[in-house]
Amino acid sequence: MPPQLADGLVAPATLTEQLFHELKEKVREFRPKDNLGTLDRAYAFAASHHAGQVRVSGEPYMTHPLQVAHILADMRMDLVSLETGLLHDVVEDCSVSADEVRKNFGNEVAHCVDGVTKIGKLDFFSAEERQAESFRKMLLAMVDDIRVIIVKLADRLHNMRTLSSLSSARQERIARETLDIYAPIAHRLGMGKVRGELEDLAFQYLDPESHAEISQTIEAQRGPNEKFLAAIKRTVEAELRREGIPARIDGRVKRAFSVYQKLKRQKITIDQVYDLMALRIVTDSVKNCYAALGVIHNEWRPIPGRIKDFIAIPRPNLYQSLHTSVVGPEGRHFEVQIRTDEMHRIAEEGIAAHWKYKEGKKGPAQDDQRIAWVRHLVEWQQDMPDSHEFMSTLKVDLYPDEVYTFTPKGRVIVLPKDATPIDFAYAIHSDVGATCTGAKVNGRIVPLRYTLKNGDSVEIVTTAGHQPSRDWLSLAKTVRARNKIKHVINLGERAKAIEIGQKYLDKEARRLGVHMSRITLGDMEKVTTEYGLAKLEDLYAALGFGKFSARQVLLKLAPTEVKDEPETAAPTDLTPAAQPSRDDPDAVIHVTGMDDLMVYRAKCCNPIRGDAIVGYVTRGKGVAVHGKLCPNVQNLLYDVERKIEVEWARDTKGSFPVHILVHTDDRPGLLAQLTSILDAEKTNIRNLEAKTEVDQDSDGALVEMTVDVRDKKHLEKLVSAMRRISGVRDVERLLS
Ligand code: MN
Repeated sequence: MPPQLADGLVAPATLTEQLFHELKEKVREFRPKDNLGTLDRAYAFAASHHAGQVRVSGEPYMTHPLQVAHILADMRMDLVSLETGLLHDVVEDCSVSADEVRKNFGNEVAHCVDGVTKIGKLDFFSAEERQAESFRKMLLAMVDDIRVIIVKLADRLHNMRTLSSLSSARQERIARETLDIYAPIAHRLGMGKVRGELEDLAFQYLDPESHAEISQTIEAQRGPNEKFLAAIKRTVEAELRREGIPARIDGRVKRAFSVYQKLKRQKITIDQVYDLMALRIVTDSVKNCYAALGVIHNEWRPIPGRIKDFIAIPRPNLYQSLHTSVVGPEGRHFEVQIRTDEMHRIAEEGIAAHWKYKEGKKGPAQDDQRIAWVRHLVEWQQDMPDSHEFMSTLKVDLYPDEVYTFTPKGRVIVLPKDATPIDFAYAIHSDVGATCTGAKVNGRIVPLRYTLKNGDSVEIVTTAGHQPSRDWLSLAKTVRARNKIKHVINLGERAKAIEIGQKYLDKEARRLGVHMSRITLGDMEKVTTEYGLAKLEDLYAALGFGKFSARQVLLKLAPTEVKDEPETAAPTDLTPAAQPSRDDPDAVIHVTGMDDLMVYRAKCCNPIRGDAIVGYVTRGKGVAVHGKLCPNVQNLLYDVERKIEVEWARDTKGSFPVHILVHTDDRPGLLAQLTSILDAEKTNIRNLEAKTEVDQDSDGALVEMTVDVRDKKHLEKLVSAMRRISGVRDVERLLS
């Protein structure tokens, strides 16, 4: 029994009991009417299961869930969240079953504990596919119940605060994950305070040197800075009082990580940063925010271009404030943020602010922009089977750098940095996007690749019946626009593939002596089913996309009628690159698992045997094989269904023409040395040309040649032999 105190209170006997006692005190303050019995039970349950466990720091394990619950209580989260905080590690670390949690604490808590446990197991550092999968799972957990991610953020925050006791390898890994994933998510959910602390803690472990340098500078200037801020604050207070504007004024020195980002962004050193300080004015109404801004600008000269009105135009995470930078006394710059109490709370707590003031409700409204963001991402990811595509669009969304643009009527359209008029058009309406043929920015006609800037007023020119084209994909930056464009392209390509497939089958039938008139619809449908396809259209589309050959289909339709394949006949104009012959370099590529597919090497990168390759099923032209590093591949492979595995055939001979560019000194005899290397390696030269380098600053020469190589090894041998010649500066393989 804990000892009895004089005033009748029970003194907590242990550190964990002390922490729990304080937790309840904290919760009682903002939830005076709630029955905290469930909290007692959650604590007792977790404490008994974690009994005997210690953290790496040597503290009892239970201190961790308790501190997590404290963080949640500081955010004034609801009881479900607090219980989840206390219980969040029992499934993972104590082999308690999810069912047991459910029996004791109900569905909601069990669901949240389960979600936090699952997120804890996600691996964000694996190959791209698995990383994307981890994100998807986390997103799903977030839409399910946003409290899952809030508890997870609290968990991560406490782990970051106590990271020093871990090994340096684990420190770095956890810090990296925090900076790359958890801090941006906190930012997206508007939780500025959590985000800031996560960033500063992660920064400290990821780049200790820069962190130390910045912190020391901030520390060294603290005395004078604080004196300066105090003086400014007195002036502002007096001026605001005179104007009758009620206000709370905080002077603060900026956070280390935000200073670091500023240094990186502006490419300056720490001693060139003169506004390490900022003033924050919190007042009672929007009207007084603008009035306070007027007072500030009346007192000190504002720096042009640094006034930002996030009250009229909130950020996507609902952040609101007025920002300005002014030239203060002694010519020193400082930043001022002005906002109302309500805005301040939202800026600090974001989505977590909802639990505090909307008692009885389950959380933020369904139309909350921040929830809508998560929900949209989940919808999009279902249409986005390619993990590379998914990750890159997610990055745009997680690390937003926005531009604020306007419709001619003054409506604000917030777009990511580098957005184009196409993104703007799709943001207005998908029909406007699809039929967009031009744009006027601030009254002037601009090309569709124009990069929109803050404050641009954009007018979209549309033409009825216009259809988006594939090259728009490289112009559109938003997920919304890209998905809509892809949808239209896919539909269009399918329609074309169906048409090509039909013609292809007819032509092949004629060539191989099959009478299509004798084949019934029933026969066709039977073959369609054999291929595992639902409709006849799908069969034609598959033919058109080159997934299998017409001959294969005809063999199934009329096995006795198909004549033997004539050796030379190519299946007509539909397949220009098809039917590789013996000495065709294309004959040395196999499509894994499909022998009868038409394959050709893409002209853009001309892969040679030994290069890592990837296939892409073209419309009716068979499989184009690209080098894995070919820049076109990433653009083409947005459609994973058409990505196909290919490999180099083992047993074929043959050679590939390769284009090589040699940079050399301009001296006699070099050319002879180069050709003797080709000779020694029995390499056929198709073409060779030497010239002086056009570049005026260069005194060198260029030798351009096309040679036949057997494979990558052969090429590498040639290149390294050439590089050994004295006077050769560089050897390049040109892709086309
Ligand atoms: Mn934990």
